[in-house]
Amino acid sequence: MGTLVITCPVTGQKIETGIETDRDSLDLTPHFSSTIACPHCGEDHQFSKSDVLVCELVDGVIQYQRAA
Ligand SMILES: [Zn+2]
Repeated sequence: MGTLVITCPVTGQKIETGIETDRDSLDLTPHFSSTIACPHCGEDHQFSKSDVLVCELVDGVIQYQRAA
């Protein structure tokens, strides 16, 4: 299981959305979009399925993967 993160377009830092999923589940999820209050730059960022990354710990290494 991993968590969904997006990249802040202002600072380039990762923003944790607090949504737990894995890549297989994300692939099956229909298109979605949402808004998140960014903790890095203080702005609200819109994001959609094509923007999110799944952050998973694989063999002790954090990996970021896009939905297929
Ligand atoms: Zn931001």
